[in-house]
Amino acid sequence: MSLALAGTGVARGIVIGRVHHIQAGSTDVTERKLDADKVHAECDRFRAARGTATDELRAIRDAIPAGSPSDISAFIESHLLMLQDATLSDAVVKLIEERQCNAEWALRMQRDALVSVFEQMDDPYLRTRKDDVDHVVTRIQRVLLDQPHSIETDTDDSQPTVVVAEDLAPADVITLHNNGLAAFITEAGSPLSHSAILARSLGIPAIVSVRGARLLQEGETVIIDGKSGFIVAAPDENALQQYSDAQAEEKAWRARLAELKHQPAETLDGNRVQLRANIELPEDVGVCDENGAEGIGLYRTEFLYLNRDVAPTEQQQLDAYTSVMLALPNQSITIRTLDLGADKQLDGGRQPSGPVANNPALGLRGIRLCLHDSELFKPQLRALLRAANTSPLRVMLPMISNLQELQQAKAMIESVRAELIAEGVSLNQDFKLGAMIEVPAAALCADQLAQHVDFFSIGTNDLIQYALAIDRIDDQVNYLYDPLHPAVLRLISMTLAAGKRHNIPVAMCGEMAGDLHLVPLLLGMGLREFSTHPANLLEVKHLIRQLQLSDLEPLAEAALNSSDAQTVASLLDDWHRQHKAQKA
Ligand code: PEP
Ligand code: MG
Repeated sequence: MSLALAGTGVARGIVIGRVHHIQAGSTDVTERKLDADKVHAECDRFRAARGTATDELRAIRDAIPAGSPSDISAFIESHLLMLQDATLSDAVVKLIEERQCNAEWALRMQRDALVSVFEQMDDPYLRTRKDDVDHVVTRIQRVLLDQPHSIETDTDDSQPTVVVAEDLAPADVITLHNNGLAAFITEAGSPLSHSAILARSLGIPAIVSVRGARLLQEGETVIIDGKSGFIVAAPDENALQQYSDAQAEEKAWRARLAELKHQPAETLDGNRVQLRANIELPEDVGVCDENGAEGIGLYRTEFLYLNRDVAPTEQQQLDAYTSVMLALPNQSITIRTLDLGADKQLDGGRQPSGPVANNPALGLRGIRLCLHDSELFKPQLRALLRAANTSPLRVMLPMISNLQELQQAKAMIESVRAELIAEGVSLNQDFKLGAMIEVPAAALCADQLAQHVDFFSIGTNDLIQYALAIDRIDDQVNYLYDPLHPAVLRLISMTLAAGKRHNIPVAMCGEMAGDLHLVPLLLGMGLREFSTHPANLLEVKHLIRQLQLSDLEPLAEAALNSSDAQTVASLLDDWHRQHKAQKA
């Protein structure tokens, strides 16, 4: 009898495979009181277990293939950092000593205390970080309990393996991926969990939060649809046929997209569009080329600064920038200067350098922080000026809200340039300087700003947050986060118009630029430079190559004249319906 289950699909793709359960979730722990003379040895036993867990994670990190997306090693690094943290080392030793209890019990007490802190957090992303504590604690517990953390995929070449587990840590996903798993299902997890993000990066179909996953029988055939979150176990012939057809269609679609890699992004009526990639770490550049990126439209350099105690040196920054340039020779590379502050803090925010802001998104972030702290900014500017020798470079400043910030940044660039020249450093090429338009004030004053920069790049993630006064990571007001709000569209349109008037290019690098539903509208509004996650690029290109600009301009005009987001949404839905009907 077939069984249908549903969960949250977090990484798309259809897999028809064989169920394999693995025990990667939490462990049962016994509580023991110790005689006073055993306490010292117990502390040593805990330290040794923590050391073994660290060695295991390091081995997993070292086995990550070169050129893999940066989030893969970043998650392992964050677990390694957690293993070194006093809250998981000294605090547990102290509990063993004070309570005279076994290490497993002390570790569980400490885990419960840490998790309760995360559970009280408002931010949904930070709330899911309790999973990281669990994953790290489970790894130590397994060493203490002598239950090896081995996750065999039991691969059988005749059918792909669908791993079913209570939960999976990022390290488990990497190990399983190296062992050839085809998809996974977990009872726990969320779309924001690191394992879900990894599944998307690695292209492993995955469904999380599946109630009753344990009902799946070891070895039985299962269909998983990572897009809808639908699971069918022991499918009948009908279901098997239906999903094999869908799977074949998807494969053919991917192959068709791959063929577009070297084709230009050009509308049917000959309007050429630039498609660039957003990256966070130099390692991400491999997937950009695979997806036909015409350079980098946003390199978020602050990721080089996160999860470390001291800022990277000028040379380390220069090496990172030039490695991206050398991987995409002669392509335009757009590097954003540090956008630290708000949710992205140096040292994970553990050592606040000043008073804690009540409202970090409106506080000292982005260009404000850089102008305030020249010691932080200057090494980056020096590295950027030196990097310009290697490839055509565009540098853009985040969070510009007025002309003075732009002028101050320019003055700082000039003083750094003079410093380098005085030191005898040869600077053969200059970079182009741009402003990100992500504060409504900048969009409203785009005409004035345009006279002082070489290009604009619209950061819609923040532009929407600030235009509509909603915290972009607050679940409670998520429903108000609407790219189709006419206010947002008008700010974008004003920026595009100012760019045109002053003859400077205008790009977009926020999430809107990679949203297939919105691309026709943005093209109609006049956008010609899109920058998005490399995984979106080929689909965006495919769509652009089917569009006729003359159809899109009236759509954009109607949207800009609409009174509310709902009207824009239905205009756009109608347009997509008609477009589909015409294609059929
Ligand atoms: C944006 O705000 O749209 C943007 C691209 O910057 P970030 O998402 O890094 O704030
Ligand atoms: Mg931004």
